[in-house]
Amino acid sequence: MAFEDKTRPMSDVQHLAERAARAQKIIASPDDFKVCEGCESIVAERANTCPNCHGYRFDESPERVVEQATHLSTRPQQSVTASDLT
Ligand SMILES: [Zn+2]
Repeated sequence: MAFEDKTRPMSDVQHLAERAARAQKIIASPDDFKVCEGCESIVAERANTCPNCHGYRFDESPERVVEQATHLSTRPQQSVTASDLT
């Protein structure tokens, strides 16, 4: 049981780190990405349809991509501070 409590936050942190790293990459080269108009997820620029909702309408403006990526990277930070939740 104690192990379960230990591994859960660890994998969460790993997830968050991955997400933050991904967001950093996106922010560094927003031209390679676009934002899905359907579900607001960030997809690769070369994708024809959204892997998430299969939408085909995208906002390709770098400003929008950066804004969305910033959202993604700041959200997990909030859950890190909420790690007292048991
Ligand atoms: Zn979508």
